Amino acid sequence: MKPSKIKVIKAKRAHLLLPGFKAIMLFGILYCRKKTDIDSINETDEINSQLKSHETIHIRQAEDCKNSWFIYYMRYIWQWICNLPLIVIDSHAPYKFIPFEIEAYTYQNNWEYCKGKCDAWRRFRKLSIKEKRIYAKEYYRTHKWPITV
Ligand SMILES: [Zn+2]
Repeated sequence: MKPSKIKVIKAKRAHLLLPGFKAIMLFGILYCRKKTDIDSINETDEINSQLKSHETIHIRQAEDCKNSWFIYYMRYIWQWICNLPLIVIDSHAPYKFIPFEIEAYTYQNNWEYCKGKCDAWRRFRKLSIKEKRIYAKEYYRTHKWPITV
């Protein structure tokens, strides 16, 4: 289904997840490790959790990528590859500082944000690896998201 057709994210049980991840969103379906997460996603159409807000931002980003999951995932994987030098800071750092993830982590607590156009990743794409390294070091030292709006 095209990203623009997905208004409400649905969750299912994940049978295989990488360590350190609580869920993965594939083509608008959220595969979760915990049953409590599945229930909280599916129980209402409202955006009422950080997880739901975060994952809905990813759907709207895919919509911003010519409404194509293919283009979205190609960009996602390419940006992860570009971030590989960050792996020396933490094994999750290349993922965490993908521009799509930067936008989702920056705005996930604003539950209205995902109802609009999610294109701040285009701005975060301009961050250099050096700037990302500074943010990553701060994040893994303080455990607080270092980027504010
Ligand atoms: Zn994410």
